[in-house]
Amino acid sequence: MIGRLIINADLVVKTGLHIGGGSSSVEIGGIDNSVIKSHKGEPYIPGSSLKGKLRSLTELAHNKMSKNEKGENLPCDCGECFVCKIYGISASEKNKSLDRFPTRIIVRDAFLKKNIAEDMRKKEGDFKDLELSYTESKWENSIDRLTSKANPRLFERVPEGAIFDLEIVYTIYNERDIDNIKRLMEGFQFLEDDYLGGNGTRGYGKVKLENIKFFTKTINDYTSKQFGDIKASVNEIDDIWFGKLKEQMIDAK
Ligand SMILES: [Zn+2]
Repeated sequence: MIGRLIINADLVVKTGLHIGGGSSSVEIGGIDNSVIKSHKGEPYIPGSSLKGKLRSLTELAHNKMSKNEKGENLPCDCGECFVCKIYGISASEKNKSLDRFPTRIIVRDAFLKKNIAEDMRKKEGDFKDLELSYTESKWENSIDRLTSKANPRLFERVPEGAIFDLEIVYTIYNERDIDNIKRLMEGFQFLEDDYLGGNGTRGYGKVKLENIKFFTKTINDYTSKQFGDIKASVNEIDDIWFGKLKEQMIDAK
């Protein structure tokens, strides 16, 4: 390892977000599709959901999906392309020699910003009409194809205006990993033009990343317990920044 890049951002919900929770949770007000919640009862975004979405959108954009015998899309497991380098490969894959292939990216579970969660609880500001503690409910109709009968179901959603604290840690082993940062950021753009969670085709799950901040730590920063000095906001990430990052990381090696 030669260093790490830590990305912090606000993940802003633009249209109702539904990331399904287990059906074992207590249902409130007839909701049959609840959202996943932390032990405190607050909705959150599992890091694995977000990572999976970033990966699949990147794979789709660059034709990196492989197919099984049934023609279903599978994540790439070549171990060589930039998608495998950034997002890793599953340990259960056939190629055992790749088992110790280090995954570069960690996407942490994203929790509601403290002030937003408080506004939601107190039903203040944007959330004055919120029905439940942190969520709203919405009826969706689906038509049974055999009987043509309407089948209305009540979905729980995180409302527009909710903001989650996002943290992504990206480990850098070599110069190519530094170049792949551009690919990672491309994934953010794909996400903003797509959706997160379920019911995207019904308009759910539009999100936006705001206040994106980058912090770097070289291996020397870890041993000296001092933070790296290459901090940047997203509009400062240019070729000069990449040059400085390479200099700092390669020098530190
Ligand atoms: Zn691959």
